[in-house]
Amino acid sequence: MSATGGTPKTRSSEAMIRFDSVSKRYPGGLEALSEVTFEIPRGTMAFVTGHSGAGKSTLLRLIALLERTTRGQVLVAGQNLRRIGRRRVPYHRRNVGLIFQDHRLLYDRPVFDNVALPLVITGLDGPELGRRVRAALDQVGLLSRERAYPVALSSGEQQRVGIARAIVGKPPLLLADEPTGNLDPDLSREIMALFERFNRVGTTVLVASHDLELIRGTGYPRMVLDQGRLVQGLDHAGEPAGA
Ligand code: ADP
Repeated sequence: MSATGGTPKTRSSEAMIRFDSVSKRYPGGLEALSEVTFEIPRGTMAFVTGHSGAGKSTLLRLIALLERTTRGQVLVAGQNLRRIGRRRVPYHRRNVGLIFQDHRLLYDRPVFDNVALPLVITGLDGPELGRRVRAALDQVGLLSRERAYPVALSSGEQQRVGIARAIVGKPPLLLADEPTGNLDPDLSREIMALFERFNRVGTTVLVASHDLELIRGTGYPRMVLDQGRLVQGLDHAGEPAGA
């Protein structure tokens, strides 16, 4: 078609994440998500909030293809996840950085190895591996700790190792599940500042958290889940803190 008249309908193709009437039922369980529809534009930093059990983790797990939808479809960067077969799931995961509350680090391996893991899986080795791992550690302020074992680190530092591991492959999308759940308010703000930095250079960031204090006044859009239903679509949590 020639470019005549009107604006093309590009909205959906611009979305980094799109849910179309998504429901998820675990085997033998109730519906963890019911008819959830939303769109998150590329380059957005957004939150999903709700009480424990509301379906926040499930929503993130569907985006990362750790779970599959029961009904409806999820699109990531325009790709319908239904069309990604089991063998191609690892390729999808390379585009999604995952951060968990409990860090999920390998405690018998030093910091360097933990952060290197996603790149090692892709076959990267040698000086380029070292360069990229150190660049990631530098971004989270842990360059000097590459030889340390996770047990020697504070909880906040362990979380930053988890973040370095999530971003080492430079994924366009970061998903964080209760990333500040075990941290005090100061450390929580530090972690949020890191996410903001990644977002400023174009990474789309979606954070699941029940911590409303953390979100209040940040100006970032948020959506609210309640017992698997989206009771509030992407909205703004307050006025931006800065200019
Ligand atoms: P949240 O992250 O908001 O706490 P979850 O997505 O973890 O919520 O859970 C939503 C619902 O799905 C809860 O009722 C939970 O018990 C259930 N659920 C989560 N994971 C599983 C699973 N693997 N098997 C069965 N039920 C699950």
